Amino acid sequence: MTTSSPVRTRIAPSPTGFLHLGTARTALYSWAFARHHGGKFVLRIEDTDVARSTQDSVDQILASMKWLGLDYDEGPIYQMQRLERYQAVIDQLIAEDKAYRCYSTPAELDIVREAKKARGEKPLYDNRWRPEAGKALPDVPCDDAGKPLPFVVRFKNPAEGDVTWNDLVKGDITINNREIDDLIIQRTDGIPTYNFAVVVDDWDMQISHVFRGDEHINNTPWQINIFNALGAPLPQFGHCPVILGDDGQKLSKRRGAVSVTAYEDNGYLPEAMLNYLARLGWSHGDEELFTSEQMVSWFDGTHLSKSPAQWDPAKLLWVNAQYMKQADNARLADLVIPRLKKQNVWTMDQRDRVVHGCSLFKERCETVNDLAEWISLLITVTRPSAEEINTHVPKEIWPAILDLAEEFSSCVWTKESISLSIKSVLKNHNIKMPQLAMPTRHLCFGTGSTPAIDAVFEIMLKEDVIARLNRLKEFI
Ligand code: GLU
Repeated sequence: MTTSSPVRTRIAPSPTGFLHLGTARTALYSWAFARHHGGKFVLRIEDTDVARSTQDSVDQILASMKWLGLDYDEGPIYQMQRLERYQAVIDQLIAEDKAYRCYSTPAELDIVREAKKARGEKPLYDNRWRPEAGKALPDVPCDDAGKPLPFVVRFKNPAEGDVTWNDLVKGDITINNREIDDLIIQRTDGIPTYNFAVVVDDWDMQISHVFRGDEHINNTPWQINIFNALGAPLPQFGHCPVILGDDGQKLSKRRGAVSVTAYEDNGYLPEAMLNYLARLGWSHGDEELFTSEQMVSWFDGTHLSKSPAQWDPAKLLWVNAQYMKQADNARLADLVIPRLKKQNVWTMDQRDRVVHGCSLFKERCETVNDLAEWISLLITVTRPSAEEINTHVPKEIWPAILDLAEEFSSCVWTKESISLSIKSVLKNHNIKMPQLAMPTRHLCFGTGSTPAIDAVFEIMLKEDVIARLNRLKEFI
């Protein structure tokens, strides 16, 4: 897709919770589109829902954007810091007869709505306070002191005609103005509503392209009408379909992790998340694994899917595992160490061992959490149970294992010497590697599946390995 005006995109989360995966995906598309065109990406915090917005959510959203590497050129811009600007635009619209004060109370509106429903009509506003040429408006209701009662401001939506736009994702969409009513643009407390503030902001911030979830499609006709009433240029809209959970229902908190933070905590790598989110509703040929630089070079707003994408935890794990394999060991260690600290299995002088452990175990780990679990096995001394010994460490191998401990005590602690010690024990006892390695794994780690024992032992402390092997003596 080619564009004429400078490309400016934005993401506009409401800080009423963490950064939702759906928002993260539209943030990614907006970011990649701006970067692709050498444009600008803006972060706006839509905090006009004062009761539900929290600083904690703002912090989480900013942290998630940072973690994902979605850097913005402007912002965060807070809507609650722009109230004067919205008020000025509302005053202007009222002065131009494009908006009006409505004094209908919620109870009155309920009655209208119920009556319309009973007649089988759409429960739209009855236009009671909408000024029209030659129409007499009700008297403004006042309190006992003669002060007008609270009012909302409504946008005077065109009564006739169609609103049409060519959606970047969904194609042509047309809604007749008779289907929609005069939207409340300012509440009784003076705070603007989403559909109004979003237009003023997209106009002021010269947003050229809006990517967002398709739950906003119904809002777009109002927004277009408000843009037109303001004489503001229209951005292009692209509405991305919802993300469905693996049960085919809309992805929701009830159905598992939906916040970016949860995936960070669960040990996913940000580049894997970005890669997976990108593919969820967009494609570039058959490419499955790509860097964010590649995505930027490919992402021109085309090839966005019209149909809902399905969240596939197994595929995400697979993608993550691919990135785990490639990840730098020192970086992985930095991610693993805080996890070890949480489990209280960390002492300051272990960093080199952890880095080494990452190189050895990352191939078999799908997440950083898996990796931390493996590495903590090397650090924490867990006592094998008698049952584990009975099941996995046959008595006839015990002498070989105890000999191994003996061999190790005079061994220079390198992988080669460790391996030579093992070979010599195998030879002396006339047994094969698996006969020794499997019970040894169970004895030392409580599991039979680890990488080659010489490689694992090398990253442990020699005394620790010997002590673990000698634990057999407790069972004699
Ligand atoms: N605050 C809105 C949301 O979080 C933004 C919608 C939009 O991008 O216009 O859904």
